Amino acid sequence: MKNAIRYSIVPKDLAGHLYEVSITIPLPAPDGQMFMLPAWIPGSYMIREFARNIVQIRAESGGKIIKLEKLDKHTWRAAHCNGPLTLWYDVYAWDLSVRTAHLDQTHAFFNGSSVFLRAVGQESLPHVVDIRRPNAAACKKWLIATSLPELKAKRHDFGSYVATDYDELIDHPVEMGNFVLASFEVHGVPHEIAITGCVPNLDVGRITADLKTLCETQIAFFEPESMLAPMKRYTFLIMAVGDGYGGLEHRASTALLCSRSDLPAIGSGHSAEGYQNFLGLCSHEYFHTWHVKRIKPAAFAPYDLQKESYTPLLWVFEGFTSYYDDLMLVRSGLIDVSAYLRRIAKTANSVLRGSGRNKQSLADASFDAWIKFYRQDENSPNALANYYTKGSLVALALDLTIRSKTKNQKSLDDVMRALWQRYGRDFYASPAAGLGITEMEIEALIDEMSGLKLRRFFNQYVRGTDELPLAGLLASFGVSMDDERSLNKPSLEARIVNAGGDLRLANVYEGGAAHRAGLSAGDLLVAIDGLRVPMDNPAAGVDKLLARYPVGAVITVHAFRRDELMKFEVELNGDKAPRFALTVQNKLRAAVAARQAWLQD
Ligand SMILES: [Zn+2]
Repeated sequence: MKNAIRYSIVPKDLAGHLYEVSITIPLPAPDGQMFMLPAWIPGSYMIREFARNIVQIRAESGGKIIKLEKLDKHTWRAAHCNGPLTLWYDVYAWDLSVRTAHLDQTHAFFNGSSVFLRAVGQESLPHVVDIRRPNAAACKKWLIATSLPELKAKRHDFGSYVATDYDELIDHPVEMGNFVLASFEVHGVPHEIAITGCVPNLDVGRITADLKTLCETQIAFFEPESMLAPMKRYTFLIMAVGDGYGGLEHRASTALLCSRSDLPAIGSGHSAEGYQNFLGLCSHEYFHTWHVKRIKPAAFAPYDLQKESYTPLLWVFEGFTSYYDDLMLVRSGLIDVSAYLRRIAKTANSVLRGSGRNKQSLADASFDAWIKFYRQDENSPNALANYYTKGSLVALALDLTIRSKTKNQKSLDDVMRALWQRYGRDFYASPAAGLGITEMEIEALIDEMSGLKLRRFFNQYVRGTDELPLAGLLASFGVSMDDERSLNKPSLEARIVNAGGDLRLANVYEGGAAHRAGLSAGDLLVAIDGLRVPMDNPAAGVDKLLARYPVGAVITVHAFRRDELMKFEVELNGDKAPRFALTVQNKLRAAVAARQAWLQD
């Protein structure tokens, strides 16, 4: 470890949310060592410019100050020096998300991409980090949860940790605090759960048992014979808050944000929808351990974290993962078939609500994630396709198509296992496997594994915007898909939210009643035919007022646009929001058998 790049990090000012970080380079580049901080974090495709949180920075060598020159927004160059070079800097950490860093009296969390400068040209050296306990009395009993391997530290204690290179260093987020800790083993691999945040009466035993079942199912899915997991250990870092949802995948861990109410309380009995959402999130991020952390699009092998990395394949990596996350829940027995079908129906209803799906293909949605999906606005339902939700429906359609056309001899499961064997299993071990996969390669592999020619399918549903034939496909698996909406229900065809006491039109659906009358997203609803809309549940309040009118009636709507009161004559439409329900049908024995093979029910 003589030439290792060495860091230290300490939560220095809890109330001021500052980490103090140092990096020491034993052999700086002779013509001036450069340092960079990533502009984005893998898994979240948006330029975030983490360098903006570096508050002050200085360099020294042999007790002397070394000049640092800023070359661009996230690059520094130190003047020439012979001996070891050390940079000291403070990082402001006050973003409670899974993507950056957060620090206060209750806990500390960071992603390496937010706090560790990259020593340019020295990325492949070992990287050692000394994680230091803060001085504050409140931190005396703090522990550490991370999948970063210990060098000189006891498990969960402060001390030094090590990564084989910079890429690995920033792929193990770190949590410090007084979290709830639980552990379990899956096929010989230790797994840990660290839950931060106050959650009264938390049923940790249930979460532990359920995650163990889920992880077993996924390892068996990818390696049915050897049951070999791709990592030596795995950590679920969970932050429970009042209202939150999100996760980010890493090679041996995941950082999750969830709502306190989604976590089970002791004695709470059967599985609530919120808990299903939580398990679905865990399942999603765990599946990424194989699919996107090892099987990768060519554009991410390696990552260029200084600028956008364009790929048309996020529908494969996020869409397939979104399909398998819930499928793994039903195959593990954590939810039943009817709950699984309800979850597919909910996804279908959200995908079919917006007209954006007719304008943007999934390949384009993947490519433009940086400026569209990750930077959504009020017009997004009318302009974007969602490569997560629609991607999961394409995966469903692809799986059912392969199963139908091969008389249930082949499935998307075979494709996933072939992807894993050829592109994922040796990703970190072999340079050839480390190249990732291209769009052409993935389509060729799907054809090869299924024995089908699916180019038309991809042209229609991935590069094109054709409507997916879900109802027909599901029928062959003993599942009926029926739209239960009532076109007699009058609607403004806008999504209305309570925004700090105002009723704001959050989205106005293209071609709907509100749109045709001239209402706009952002308008504040004042009255419908002179009556104020009840505030507590805006959507239900509007429905209640509109229920007195037939479809086709013209009503007067008053709304504020900025500070100007405006009046609109709105001709009410029937509510076109899809309300599909998926139901099990047991009439045909062959369809029942096909469904059981699919869901492993
Ligand atoms: Zn994902």
